Amino acid sequence: MVAPYRPTMTNGTGRQNPESMTFETKPRPSRAPRRVARPPQRRTANNLALLAGIGLLISVGLAFIGESLGSFKSAGGWFTFAGRVTGLSGTYLLIIMVLLVTRLPWLEQTVGQVRLVHWHRTVGGWPIAIIALHVILITIGYAQASHVGLLSEFWAFIYHYPDMLSATVAFALLVLAGVTSIPAIRLQLKYQTWWVVHLYLYLAVVLAFAHEIKAGVMFIGHPLSLDFWIALSVVALGAVLAVRGVRPLARNLRHQLRVADVREEAPGVYSVIIKGRNMNQFEVAGGQFFQWRFMARGLWWHSHPYSLSALPRPPFIRMTVKRLGLQSLATTRLKPGTRVIVEGPYGVFTRHARQGDGRVVLIGAGVGISPIRALLEDLPPGTNVTVLLRASKAEDLVHRKEIAQLVIERDGQLHEIVGSRKKVHLDGKALRQLLGNLSTSDIYVCGPPGFSESMAKALVRLGAGHDRIHQEAFAF
Ligand SMILES: Cc1cc2nc3c(=O)[nH]c(=O)nc-3n(C[C@H](O)[C@H](O)[C@H](O)COP(=O)(O)OP(=O)(O)OC[C@H]3O[C@@H](n4cnc5c(N)ncnc54)[C@H](O)[C@@H]3O)c2cc1C
Repeated sequence: MVAPYRPTMTNGTGRQNPESMTFETKPRPSRAPRRVARPPQRRTANNLALLAGIGLLISVGLAFIGESLGSFKSAGGWFTFAGRVTGLSGTYLLIIMVLLVTRLPWLEQTVGQVRLVHWHRTVGGWPIAIIALHVILITIGYAQASHVGLLSEFWAFIYHYPDMLSATVAFALLVLAGVTSIPAIRLQLKYQTWWVVHLYLYLAVVLAFAHEIKAGVMFIGHPLSLDFWIALSVVALGAVLAVRGVRPLARNLRHQLRVADVREEAPGVYSVIIKGRNMNQFEVAGGQFFQWRFMARGLWWHSHPYSLSALPRPPFIRMTVKRLGLQSLATTRLKPGTRVIVEGPYGVFTRHARQGDGRVVLIGAGVGISPIRALLEDLPPGTNVTVLLRASKAEDLVHRKEIAQLVIERDGQLHEIVGSRKKVHLDGKALRQLLGNLSTSDIYVCGPPGFSESMAKALVRLGAGHDRIHQEAFAF
């Protein structure tokens, strides 16, 4: 264990800042108490899932409107019907995919953005494939009914049917988003390129809307189904605007965040300290992250996720960034006074994820130690806590002294495992010796993807429950 340490922070000019920017654990300013984040609302998430299922059934059901026995028997009848089912269900699922990554607060608080993005990734290709099927089936159905070839029917759609040209552009955008999301292709792209292409999906949903209501037989002369479809689109669009636009705008107007200081914590790792107004109302739990947008040249147009590395000390908050690529490098060179826009807080890597009141084990590696530091600070008083930090060199143990101090205050245990992976093994045997019985412990792991996965596997083998292992991946 290392000796406790009280860090002090300067304003980057060598002068001591008149306002204390210290993130030491005691004393916390009492004049501006932090509001705690709400625990997850499991029932709300289940209700939303049920609502989504009902919506899908209704959408598929709409395909039966306007169909008769005669229409099935006519040339191309079955193809046209299947085309309508795939068109309606594919569009509906596309809207659900968009909502999954819209960061709806009720859903995000329970499931967490990382898992929502994972679901979106896993099933995101389905609506695109279903809509591609819709294009093929409808073309075959109409071609058979008109006794023409597929290509001439396709051209007839574009030239003679209402808003079909914009729908074709929407389809092309959809295919582009799908292709750029194939892992092998995505790895070749810059994150920002992939993100911008993905933004076009919103445009695709809007562009396709007119052809749906003008060409869909289930909507023509059927006001109830038309109302349902319009309401669905309006609610989805409203949710996106409210959650991604209005809410962050209101939060940022209230807090008016600006960079106060940037300081080096470890080689290549920097803390960015941010100052704001009304920070006693800044609601966040230890372990959560925000999407940060820095209003500086080249940075303002994209936001990146970073976790808080300490609980707020009104008027300050702090995050800790490892230099990786262009954005993180630029973040560590931010000038004091730079305006900051945040979205969040997000994530369920918090004290609320605990499945019992037993021991809490916190395991962090690399810059993954940073949310572990904030989570440690946020655990309820009296929690039996063991912290395990992993790094190749002692100087890479980010916030080492602050963590040691917090562990001492909580009468917990701290293990620092330092050394190269080749020489110092953190395997099942070592974990058993350090952590003992894990059956009633909640274990939080944050580190590079390979580290978190191997840790989780080893912990399960040592008897830890799957539902008691909580991981934060620093990648979506
Ligand atoms: C939930 C979460 C919490 C995180 N917390 C921290 C933290 O506390 N400290 C820290 O140093 N890092 C954190 N990260 C990682 C950090 O967001 C990336 O390292 C950073 O965005 C890299 O951007 P870049 O341009 O510097 O690097 P690049 O070289 O462009 O990217 C490096 C990696 O980061 C991914 N990435 C790039 N931009 C984004 C983005 N806008 N959104 C999501 N992923 C992106 C890329 O896919 C790539 O794998 C967190 C990531 C997530 C998902």
